[in-house]
Amino acid sequence: MTREHPCCLCPALESDFKNNVCADCGFIKKYTDERGWIYFVRGGIGGVHKTFYRKPGNNKEKACSIFPWHQTFVQAQIDLNKTAKARGWQVV
Ligand SMILES: [Zn+2]
Repeated sequence: MTREHPCCLCPALESDFKNNVCADCGFIKKYTDERGWIYFVRGGIGGVHKTFYRKPGNNKEKACSIFPWHQTFVQAQIDLNKTAKARGWQVV
């Protein structure tokens, strides 16, 4: 069950959050699709956030064009959670 919003004081709000899923609320950070691409939220220039992707065997992180920039990490993560759910992406 994917949660769209994080709990209060959710460790997922930290950009260096090491675990992929919050033990308290199940808020998820990373997903993968059928091609094995990894999707995750990252900050960009000017403090904005959006979903980036990484292809298997390639460490380059690229901005994902289907996602808009958001003012906060949480907004961008909620956007990713909704899209992941709609597209059937799996938790990494
Ligand atoms: Zn949480």
